[in-house]
Amino acid sequence: MKPWESFRFCPRCGAAAATAERVIPFRCAACEFTLFFNPVVGVAGIIRRPDGAILLLRRAKDPAKGKFGVPGGFVDFGESAEDGLRREAREEVGLRLEAVEFFLSHPNSYTYRDVTYGVVDFYFTARIAPDQSAQALDEVESFVWLQPAGISPDDLAFPSLRHAIQRYRERPAPAL
Ligand SMILES: [Zn+2]
Repeated sequence: MKPWESFRFCPRCGAAAATAERVIPFRCAACEFTLFFNPVVGVAGIIRRPDGAILLLRRAKDPAKGKFGVPGGFVDFGESAEDGLRREAREEVGLRLEAVEFFLSHPNSYTYRDVTYGVVDFYFTARIAPDQSAQALDEVESFVWLQPAGISPDDLAFPSLRHAIQRYRERPAPAL
């Protein structure tokens, strides 16, 4: 279900939310409390090392268990997208990123406990700082470095990532 379909009562005043009047954003007829359901921002990094290989993480859990993802996650309140990606890269694979550049965005969704949230994924390209090496840390089972041309789209976890990797392959090679 969509997030707004979960609301039966106003979370501020407790008035019943009339089913027939359920609208986006949620608006309470009694107290005018209003709640927006705009997409959240996801960040993801296409992180390269000097030989051009990019970092892929094997997912330890569903959805898409066993398929490849890339470092990333949701942006925290008050955080920039770039800083969100830097934080996730540090937490997941212990990497300090350099040359973080916006690449493209793509719509996505995220289902948690039967509620499907809207997401906009912001993809960035980045390179690892010299003398850095990836480690499997927080919730990461294992990782591989693969040349973009050698990545099978079927091995990638989400349509959004398949789109980004395809576009990455098509673009001119970045300065390493
Ligand atoms: Zn209310």
